[in-house]
Amino acid sequence: MQVSHPVYDVAVIGGGINGVGIAVDAAGRGLSVFLCEKDDLASHTSSASSKLIHGGLRYLEYKEFRLVHEALLEREILLAKAPHIIRPLRFVMPHQPHLRPAWLIRTGLFIYDHLGKRKKLAASRHIHFDPASSPLKDEMTQGFEYSDCAVDDARLVVLNAMQAHELGAKIATQTRCSAAYRENGVWNIHLEHAQGSYQVQAKALVNATGPWVLQFIEHNLQQQSPHGLRLVQGSHIIVPRIYEGDKAFILQNDDHRIVFAIPYLEQYTLIGTTDHEYQGNLDQVKITSQEVDYLLNVYNDHFKHQLTVEDILYTYSGVRSLCDDESDNPSAITRDYTLAISPTQENDAPLLSVFGGKLTTYRKLAESAMAHLAPTFPDMNKSWTETACLPGAENLVSVELLMQQLMQGIDQVSLSLASRWAHAYGSRVWNFLKDISTTSELGEDFGHGLFAREVDYLVDQEWARTSEDILWRRTKLGFQFSADEIQQLDQYLLKLLLKRSSDTAA
Ligand SMILES: Cc1cc2nc3c(=O)[nH]c(=O)nc-3n(C[C@H](O)[C@H](O)[C@H](O)COP(=O)(O)OP(=O)(O)OC[C@H]3O[C@@H](n4cnc5c(N)ncnc54)[C@H](O)[C@@H]3O)c2cc1C
Repeated sequence: MQVSHPVYDVAVIGGGINGVGIAVDAAGRGLSVFLCEKDDLASHTSSASSKLIHGGLRYLEYKEFRLVHEALLEREILLAKAPHIIRPLRFVMPHQPHLRPAWLIRTGLFIYDHLGKRKKLAASRHIHFDPASSPLKDEMTQGFEYSDCAVDDARLVVLNAMQAHELGAKIATQTRCSAAYRENGVWNIHLEHAQGSYQVQAKALVNATGPWVLQFIEHNLQQQSPHGLRLVQGSHIIVPRIYEGDKAFILQNDDHRIVFAIPYLEQYTLIGTTDHEYQGNLDQVKITSQEVDYLLNVYNDHFKHQLTVEDILYTYSGVRSLCDDESDNPSAITRDYTLAISPTQENDAPLLSVFGGKLTTYRKLAESAMAHLAPTFPDMNKSWTETACLPGAENLVSVELLMQQLMQGIDQVSLSLASRWAHAYGSRVWNFLKDISTTSELGEDFGHGLFAREVDYLVDQEWARTSEDILWRRTKLGFQFSADEIQQLDQYLLKLLLKRSSDTAA
């Protein structure tokens, strides 16, 4: 087996938000970084979230003040780092006095407003619903409103991976770490991909495998885990847009859980999520019929317009990996993260394992990971990610201005195409639209505003390899593509990838 690099400082296993967050932080501190992901970037939990950058109002009930404080502070930091993929979102909470009294909600919202710095996001307030225009049932006459943010979760992962790469990190997707062991003070890491296997070495190993964290420690590293793990499935359904306006709803259910209804991609509403202990195959997490019924029931209890299973266009499910705090109720298990470092003796290559975490706190989790690794890298640079833009946010005055520039500069660009490009790529959109004056110069047209230029960019700069990577994670065009259109894209990708591999071999 060939060893392909002298010795990396840090090897990260897992290309979800926590893995790429640690990779980018380490690379920016001057460390050499290797990251492998067995599938596509963000192909598991990190693209199956509720897509919120939020403090987590309901965690206050579980007294998770540390987590909520950190998450609240992160909202505006992340909004400034990536305003093209993150936007403020107002939440409406109908008041249900038999579930939670008004004083409790008011107190919770007061804490929520003041626990973290808030400059751009508006404060909470009490509201009355106009029965004539409210989408809610007539008995819901009043409620509360507060602010959080929405994010394109999969793109948050890809942008962090791009930034890590630009800072020198090697990102190896479709590459599984099958085993790793310590030898002579370094980690030997065995990797497998479609073309064969190879090995790299690193001074520190980061296990950011999300729901696989325990499996990775016990099977791939043959060690004992310092913590237990709880796997909790959460599912969402997507339906055609059910109400006007750009606000989300937070619905309280009789079981004391909450469900969100969130405006999604102009035409849709996203409804989720559930909380169920999960023991199935981590590579094939699917919504159950009980979860579908649960989400429809909570929605139908609140809204005038009623939904049935036939209205569901799409579903997705993910698994949270939570550090086991022995709670009986899956909703009550801590959402905070735990970092475990071993061994503690000097001069032995450390293993850092990530248990839990949220999209919202990935940057702070990465800073904490680097603090744990500091004894191994005493000369590394200081933390730097708080004020650094993610790719596409550089020189971005506003997404609206960029949309105007796209429509004025390129013939035949519709408002919806300009909006999609500007929100997905920010200022990086010019990397594939340079010198273009009309969409007919963009190469093969796959339909719905997807052209060869964008596909090439996604393959060359964003590690896209399959139509699924492109249609569901780099873009959300999967909702619109027919089977024939997907086949046309697959054929193009096959030729492109063959050409790229023969170019590399030459
Ligand atoms: C239903 C649901 C809703 C959520 N909503 C929100 C929300 O709105 N806001 C929020 O802040 N958080 C939310 N979260 C939490 C958030 O999504 C997760 O905490 C986060 O995505 C976890 O990221 P991760 O990197 O740890 O795991 P993952 O994204 O699962 O990444 C781990 C990666 O490791 C890879 N891997 C595993 N084993 C190997 C190996 N041997 N070799 C190579 N690669 C390997 C996997 O393929 C995977 O891609 C939600 C979670 C769920 C389940």
